[in-house]
Amino acid sequence: MVRFTVLASGSRGNSTIVSGGRTRILVDAGLSCRELFRRLRLVSEDPAALDAILITHEHQDHVAGLAVTARKLGIPVYFTEATHRAWMRWLAPRKQMTYAQWLEQCRKQQAERDTVALAPEVETEEIAEDTLETVAASAVTSEAKADPAWLPAVEYFRPGEPFRIGDIDLRPFTVPHDAADPVGFVLEAEGVRIGYATDLGYIPPNVKAQLAGLDLLLLESNHDLEMLRDGPYPWSVKQRVLSRVGHLSNDATAEFLATEYDGQAAYVILAHLSENNNLPELARVAADRALSTRPGLLANRLLIACQGEPMEPITF
Ligand SMILES: [Zn+2]
Ligand SMILES: [Zn+2]
Repeated sequence: MVRFTVLASGSRGNSTIVSGGRTRILVDAGLSCRELFRRLRLVSEDPAALDAILITHEHQDHVAGLAVTARKLGIPVYFTEATHRAWMRWLAPRKQMTYAQWLEQCRKQQAERDTVALAPEVETEEIAEDTLETVAASAVTSEAKADPAWLPAVEYFRPGEPFRIGDIDLRPFTVPHDAADPVGFVLEAEGVRIGYATDLGYIPPNVKAQLAGLDLLLLESNHDLEMLRDGPYPWSVKQRVLSRVGHLSNDATAEFLATEYDGQAAYVILAHLSENNNLPELARVAADRALSTRPGLLANRLLIACQGEPMEPITF
């Protein structure tokens, strides 16, 4: 069974759990570890059963709980190399890190990993959060603990190059966004294909090509253009959101759904809605209208991912 559950979506934190076969992956960790665990349990997922964390880009709403969660569970984090570096630089006290310094910090971290047991022995049954903390803490030396960017294991992937985590196949693709090396993903398990694309200023041809032949499409529908224009953000921030490396508007998403989208997904989830510059109803109406112009679409159940609580799990 493939199970897809958005735990949170929006500018205050993004995270989704995907399970397929015997593998469970967290895509982004933009909530505190405590809140992530709370939401996982709300949807009957055991945090201790997670196999890996996958990161789309280094913005805070995608990585806020990353280090604590990965350490607590003793699981690997999958990044692009540039995203890993940008994240480490973001955590660095002086926010400055040359490439040589970064390599040196990575080398130290690797040496540290070589001296400690990699993953703590975590039972797959329900374990109290406090127990996990104790177990993981025992596997991390004090030197590693002092480095906020220390992770139990780091794996690199490259946009355009498929890879696999356990039973889940992943195809990362580049998206236009103002981060070091932002990506979206197509995840595939048990023949079910899931497209995941948020935080993109527009939908270039390479992304359109990836968002075809899907069973589930999660796509950003960030803002209503009028609400953004009339809303509280300073002009510079409005420009950033609207730019080709910002976020997708309801109209841009609707335009894609009405024209180039192949209409094959059983579920379309609108995600990363702005709390200041959008309303769920506006996003829904725009997408609904777009899909209704496509005759013969029987599937395409339209859902909205929200910030405050997990979505109902979707299973295949
Ligand atoms: Zn974001
Ligand atoms: Zn972002």
